[in-house]
Amino acid sequence: MGTGILTINPDALAKNWQALDGMSNQAVETTAVVKADGYGLGAGLIAKRLMREGVRIFFVAATEEGVELRKAAGDTLDIRILSGHMAGDTELLRDFDLTPMLNSVDQINRHFDILSDHPFGVQLDSGMNRLGLEPAEWDSVKADVLAKSPVLLMSHLACADEPENPLNAQQLTCFHEMTDGLDVPRSLAATGGILLGPDYHFDLVRPGVGLYGGAPFTNAVPVINLSLPIIQTRDVQPGEYVGYGNGWQAQTPAKIATLAAGYADGLIRAMGGKETQIFAGDTACEVLGRVSMDMLTVDVTHLETVPESLDLICEHQSIDDLADKAGTIGYEILTSLGARYTRRILGE
Ligand SMILES: *Cc1c(COP(=O)(O)O)cnc(C)c1O
Repeated sequence: MGTGILTINPDALAKNWQALDGMSNQAVETTAVVKADGYGLGAGLIAKRLMREGVRIFFVAATEEGVELRKAAGDTLDIRILSGHMAGDTELLRDFDLTPMLNSVDQINRHFDILSDHPFGVQLDSGMNRLGLEPAEWDSVKADVLAKSPVLLMSHLACADEPENPLNAQQLTCFHEMTDGLDVPRSLAATGGILLGPDYHFDLVRPGVGLYGGAPFTNAVPVINLSLPIIQTRDVQPGEYVGYGNGWQAQTPAKIATLAAGYADGLIRAMGGKETQIFAGDTACEVLGRVSMDMLTVDVTHLETVPESLDLICEHQSIDDLADKAGTIGYEILTSLGARYTRRILGE
């Protein structure tokens, strides 16, 4: 086996969905965000598993992702497009029955001009300044939009993973001001917003990263395991160097294992030389020197027997632990997981 093995546990993902669903009132609809191919784990796989939990609405970023999801998971799910109705999307939106979340006055005009009977939602900017209509823009089109019965009014929180951040309450107030009394379903919360409590839940919540086992949902159960095979081991003497740029030097006799995964598999170079660990069962080993494109090197001197593979993401090291060491976030670790891994889906 020349590639790493990425094991995905759809039942664990379903548990995370149930836990997040359980945090809001029963009347609140808990959807799922499966953009970027389900945060790198496979949007079709995840949608099919979550449909068994009763999930009906799925969000993706791009219309093209919506098309893939429709083909993979069938006709019954309600697929919503966060990038809205962009130039060139019209036929795909219509043919694959995808619902754009319109996010500018231009998009609203485009949609009403060329797909006027097709369902849509609207994104409002409550302070993140990324997507959505600002309050004054919303005022200018609100009456026309409401006349066409949008399926959803939504906004997104910029700092929901920081409960103390005053922007959360400001965005909440702004969203209320823009949407109170309009009789259209509303949504403000992603994973972080769900954890902020019921004031943030409105009619529909949109968890993404928490489903996949990532922060800020710290009680998530792990959904993936990543195991990397050892290609060879060697003994090095004090003074010898390992890897590109002589990234590490042995001080004492050491045994080095070379593993078959590198930055081309999403193990970003920033993981090198940062006390990143990798596990032989319960025993931690240190990743040494620089991460190469297809390989990384590990100190296995202290192992009595060297196993065939070591676990990089496992019960001892979560995606967020790994992200912390590499100076990034779990989202980036997940969505960078490489195409070369052999994927094992538990339960299949
Ligand atoms: C990505 C995204 C989500 C999901 O966010 P998580 O932090 O992964 O839960 C929800 N809504 C919008 C608009 C998004 O872009």
